[in-house]
Amino acid sequence: MPASNAPRDQNPDGEFRGKETTSCCVVGAGPAGAVLSLLLARRGIPVTLLEMHKDFDREFRGDTIHPAILEILDQIGLAQKLHEIPHAKITGPTLQFADGPFRPFNLARLKTRFPYILMIPQARFLELITAEAAKFPHFKLVMQAQVQRLIEEDGVVRGVRYLGADGEHELRARLTVGADGRFSMVRRLAGFEPVRTAPPMDVLWFRLPKLPGEPPAVGGAFGGIGRGRIFIVLERNDYWQAGLVFPKGKYQELRAQGVEAVRKSLAETEPQFARHAESLTDWQQLNLLSVESSRCPLWHKPGLLVIGDAAHVMSPVGGVGINYAVQDAVAAANLLAAPLKSGPVTDAQLAEVQRQRELPTRVIQGMQKLMQDRLLARALESKAPISIPWQLKFFLRIPVLRDIPARLIAFGIRRVRLTET
Ligand SMILES: Cc1cc2nc3c(=O)[nH]c(=O)nc-3n(C[C@H](O)[C@H](O)[C@H](O)COP(=O)(O)OP(=O)(O)OC[C@H]3O[C@@H](n4cnc5c(N)ncnc54)[C@H](O)[C@@H]3O)c2cc1C
Repeated sequence: MPASNAPRDQNPDGEFRGKETTSCCVVGAGPAGAVLSLLLARRGIPVTLLEMHKDFDREFRGDTIHPAILEILDQIGLAQKLHEIPHAKITGPTLQFADGPFRPFNLARLKTRFPYILMIPQARFLELITAEAAKFPHFKLVMQAQVQRLIEEDGVVRGVRYLGADGEHELRARLTVGADGRFSMVRRLAGFEPVRTAPPMDVLWFRLPKLPGEPPAVGGAFGGIGRGRIFIVLERNDYWQAGLVFPKGKYQELRAQGVEAVRKSLAETEPQFARHAESLTDWQQLNLLSVESSRCPLWHKPGLLVIGDAAHVMSPVGGVGINYAVQDAVAAANLLAAPLKSGPVTDAQLAEVQRQRELPTRVIQGMQKLMQDRLLARALESKAPISIPWQLKFFLRIPVLRDIPARLIAFGIRRVRLTET
């Protein structure tokens, strides 16, 4: 019988406010943790999802729902509901080079019901997923629950201790999943060391207003490259989401130059956004994303698994962090739901999750590194607008090759599907 979410015996020494048990304790209600919890709850498995924040509304950290996620949500009847939330669609950016416009990928050519990236606020996505999970009686979401320790007995992780709004709690579980993001506490407590690569850039994200009567962006996104800067502008429902990519280590210099320098730089690189840029008046409007790329050599130990950013932090090239985090969750649900129903999950079953997800992660990280080293680094070093590398132009002209980047961004090297709905 699966364990329940019921409180266990009270702790006689009163050290903890609560002692509870569940089958699966998921730490972190980001895309990976929320989707895994929903998929397990649908399969009748008691799940407790612990999230340290009090709500899902945080600064922009990616609002991209890729075709792979849309197909998976379609399998469980949620794709339509997601499309009812106000959204924009992106099929691929048009980047301005010295020798003309260039589209590095075009999702519109892919064979899928959803040949686009759906842009909706991540908070709305997480609210939808957790509201669906809450329809199952053995799902429990605890907000303001900050996991601080792992419970380990005889070399096996048996759950976590967390600080809730009302004090300390102990939650015991057959399986603990660390889906707690790029600064994962679970990863640190488990002793997993990510191997980092240092991308040559950081990003400042900010909003620009839409002006009355302006036409939609071709493919939903623009980019301007060269003169030591890269600008990316994504079309949103009622505003533009803009990113200024700049060389790593230059943040303080940029900060000292002030918001005027960002305005000027945007107007030079993307002249059609010069008027929009006038809305930038205060540095507080800009959010820094310190770009990282890393991967843990090991994602599991007895009783514990890490997925999503906790296992691998993606560079923002292609905006795939959410997509790959959700695919990890689907692979974990496919492989672990049945064992979780009947008893403890073995280390071999956890290793299989890593085996299935590590190669796709390596491949996309390899592609991101290539783009960063060959194209973005050159653009950031150059004082003038740069031309499209001929190798890239040549590669993307060959019909059988040209959709490889789009497929990797949309799905990875293989489509992840729910094996049981
Ligand atoms: C500024 C920015 C822009 C980005 N843009 C994009 C984009 O356009 N497209 C894209 O695909 N990706 C983007 N990303 C990356 C994307 O946000 C991540 O890849 C994705 O969210 C990973 O999902 P996750 O569920 O693994 O982790 P997260 O989304 O990071 O979720 C982890 C959750 O765990 C919670 N948590 C952390 N520690 C604890 C704890 N100790 N106890 C309890 N809860 C805890 C956190 O509050 C959080 O809710 C961006 C990231 C940033 C920072």
